[in-house]
Amino acid sequence: MRLSRYFLPVLKENPAEAQIVSHRYMLRAGMIKQQAAGIYSWLPLGYRVLRRIEQIVHEEQARAGHIPLLMPTLQPADLWRESGRYDDYGQEMLRIKDRHERDMLYGPTNEEMITDIFRSHVGSYKDLPLTLYHIQWKFRDEMRPRFGVMRGREFLMKDGYNFDLDKDAALHAYNRHMVSYLRTYERMGLTAIPMRAASGPIGGDNTHEFLVLASTGESEVFYDAAVTELKLGDREVDFDNRDEVAGICQEFTTLYARTDETHDAALFDQIPEDRRKVGRGIEVGQIFYFGTKYSEAMGATVVTPEGTKVPVEMGSHGIGVSRLLGAIIEASHDDKGIIWPEGVTPFPVGIVNLKQGDASTDLACEGLYKALAAKGLEALYDDREERAGAKFATMDLIGLPWRITVGPRGLANGVVELTSRRTGESEEMSAEAAVDRIV
Ligand code: ATP
Ligand code: MG
Ligand code: MG
Ligand code: MG
Repeated sequence: MRLSRYFLPVLKENPAEAQIVSHRYMLRAGMIKQQAAGIYSWLPLGYRVLRRIEQIVHEEQARAGHIPLLMPTLQPADLWRESGRYDDYGQEMLRIKDRHERDMLYGPTNEEMITDIFRSHVGSYKDLPLTLYHIQWKFRDEMRPRFGVMRGREFLMKDGYNFDLDKDAALHAYNRHMVSYLRTYERMGLTAIPMRAASGPIGGDNTHEFLVLASTGESEVFYDAAVTELKLGDREVDFDNRDEVAGICQEFTTLYARTDETHDAALFDQIPEDRRKVGRGIEVGQIFYFGTKYSEAMGATVVTPEGTKVPVEMGSHGIGVSRLLGAIIEASHDDKGIIWPEGVTPFPVGIVNLKQGDASTDLACEGLYKALAAKGLEALYDDREERAGAKFATMDLIGLPWRITVGPRGLANGVVELTSRRTGESEEMSAEAAVDRIV
């Protein structure tokens, strides 16, 4: 992408309304524009990151054997009357009437709708296990939308729903989600700790929230410092092997890690003092096992191998896709701007032309741009007629992992400069060597 033809409306001033760094940088880097309280347009740079995050979510769901579909944002109120949640949900639900005076709502979550799909098409144990998910916009009329995309009213969520014959199978689905989420967040460069949580309006007893530690997080968290060292890495996981998957969950949930809702001071005090930590966290996901709460209320049954009809066992599992952009920036930035982890960066590398219009510098930049493209890497090429200082400031703000700086002086010596955004270190090398270094 050539910056001269791109749409990157960078702001020079700090927007007054942004209280936390991720919101500030997302506005300054031209990633989002607020359209109403808690409702945003995703400008091209923000949209690229959003799509990358979605892609990682899809890939990890596929690995776990979960199946994507797409449900609508608008739902009929009648479904929610069946579960009893239409009245319970309260003011967070955006209620709408269509021209025929029918009650509709903008979905805050999809348990009812997916249960309706299931009961319409599935009736036998032979079709189980089944896990369906989608990535779709949700609306919750939050009392205090704030911090940009972190607490929006309209936000993008991955929500998945498992259907199983019995509780053991449903708990395996729960565990499968936990493990797939661990890898999902790790690929985004995050440490997201599964913490025992309270269940709230969705109901059920087994639930964990995934929290990214950050001083601006809205949840108070209590944990054993050792839990932050755990990594799933790229180990092969057989998602059908119940013991293997349960073993990984055990590994990640044995050390103490809880939010204020489930905190147990007596247990916490047993952790060696130097590892006992109190901090704040951003909730980037949550998994629930809730059994037959919805299937009983809505008549979603399956016939067992013995020929009896039982309500299907269920759980639901969410990832805050749009909130993740804020969480990643909170976890990875400096005073100049964002530092994108490689897994989610909008572009892998930026090219800065120090002397736009100088024939040989332009030619070298074009060559680099094409060589990167040939490797499947789309560079953001700053080909604007701008001062070097302004170009560097833009690159630092938007936080691409690598910058290649090309100027007449270096070219006279046959070199360009490769700079890591994370370490700030620069190295001179040939253009070919720079292309080789970028992955
Ligand atoms: P919170 O405690 O932050 O209000 P929640 O527990 O109500 O979130 P869930 O119902 O668990 O949210 O939804 C799954 C995920 O969706 C959350 O873990 C979070 O990452 C994301 N999410 C929830 N509400 C919002 C919001 N208003 N804006 C952005 N993301 C959200
Ligand atoms: Mg909430
Ligand atoms: Mg919550
Ligand atoms: Mg939650």
